[in-house]
Amino acid sequence: MLTKWLHKVLPRKSARRGKRREISLAQHHIQADDLSFAAEKVITRLQKEGYQAYVVGGAVRDLLLGVTPKDFDVATDATPEQIHKLFRRSRIIGRRFPIVHVMVGPETIEVTTFRGGAVNSHNELGRIMKDVSFGTLEQDAMRRDFTANALYYDPKQQVVLDFHHGVEDILNRRLVMIGNPAERYQEDPVRMLRAARLSGKLGFTVDKHTSKPIAECAQLLKREPPARLFDEVLKILFSGYAQACLRQMNNLGLKDIHPLLDALMPGGESNDNIVALALHNTDERLRADKSVSMGFVLAAVLWPHIRTVWQRELNSGMRSSAAMNAAITSERQHVDKNWGVPQRYSVTMREIWSLQPQFEIMRGARPYRLLGQPRFRAAFDFMCLRASLGELSQDTVQWWQAFQHGSDVEREQLIRTASQSEKNSTRQKRYRNRRTNKPKQEEA
Ligand code: ATP
Ligand code: MG
Repeated sequence: MLTKWLHKVLPRKSARRGKRREISLAQHHIQADDLSFAAEKVITRLQKEGYQAYVVGGAVRDLLLGVTPKDFDVATDATPEQIHKLFRRSRIIGRRFPIVHVMVGPETIEVTTFRGGAVNSHNELGRIMKDVSFGTLEQDAMRRDFTANALYYDPKQQVVLDFHHGVEDILNRRLVMIGNPAERYQEDPVRMLRAARLSGKLGFTVDKHTSKPIAECAQLLKREPPARLFDEVLKILFSGYAQACLRQMNNLGLKDIHPLLDALMPGGESNDNIVALALHNTDERLRADKSVSMGFVLAAVLWPHIRTVWQRELNSGMRSSAAMNAAITSERQHVDKNWGVPQRYSVTMREIWSLQPQFEIMRGARPYRLLGQPRFRAAFDFMCLRASLGELSQDTVQWWQAFQHGSDVEREQLIRTASQSEKNSTRQKRYRNRRTNKPKQEEA
């Protein structure tokens, strides 16, 4: 209904891009109290001091779509130093693009100064290396990536400013790059990943001029610092729509960019059921507002490799835990060097792996020790994931389930039962071995 009506009141697409249009409350329906307390406070303060200040980007887009924004960004004509002076709890960050983080209660608002038309420094491939030129609101809108992200909301005037037909593109669920898409990808290759992420997450189609140069420019992403790519991978994984984003990456020809992305891709070489299952669980948990551990997701993504090396070492006669340590060591150097994974995640990932062999031991004091490990919960969930794919028996899952929640007496009983069935199976094995060896001896 609203969509139909907005289509009617908005000017036709033929209007020149870059021209400022004001969308009124009657058209956009965003209420000032749709903003977070912190966003409202930051904007009010800046405006009170005589600066221009708007909510910009994803938050305006999401509010127009009727989605609750996950964070609020603010754009202003105040310089980073001026912003920093106004807010006691703030800090200037970013080398390439200085921005200010303003903390209000538990929230952090990212405040950026309007970017100017001139980029200070490009490399030989046209990539922006440094950008500290400040400019007008119109220039800032030109420098944003997609039309849907170049919308500015002023809560005081209750107006949305639209320079590039962003509102119309949102209504048509279309992602359109501002300016010449190939040049914009050369300036900043991460915009290609953003195209995949935003279209996957929002269910938008990517405009054909916007998608066309991507396959050709995709290799530029390889030159990006692994840590920046990893940041974007995190956003994909935590979007709640990881599977859809990865499908979009595939459709757009974004392949062979980062080992982690390759491992995640549907049908990718190192792809495995456990990766698909972990992504599915992650999406479901995020949509249900539950927490997700990056270390856990990474543990699943790299598991196919770890499992192969672990199995190989086991076959060569190593004990289970030692074989697992060997597998972890083999992966360690490669991941630390090439993946840009921050240590806080890789440490959790390795702890989850190293606890896996211990779930096989259900006798003596070992189960108690495992239960006391700080990462027990994550390791147990990971073991359940493996069991759901047939790597372990459901009996093992049930045993650990009962052990975790049992009383002292019940735990002792569980250990006794497990020890007994282990003895029985060892006896059976010996008996089988003797029987299979017997005829050979007779023949000899
Ligand atoms: P999300 O909902 O994931 O936060 P977002 O569009 O808000 O999506 P942010 O990374 O928060 O993404 O960026 C805020 C805004 O900054 C974007 O909406 C866009 O206007 C601008 N922006 C971010 N990254 C780029 C980029 N690489 N090039 C140009 N503009 C960008
Ligand atoms: Mg945002």
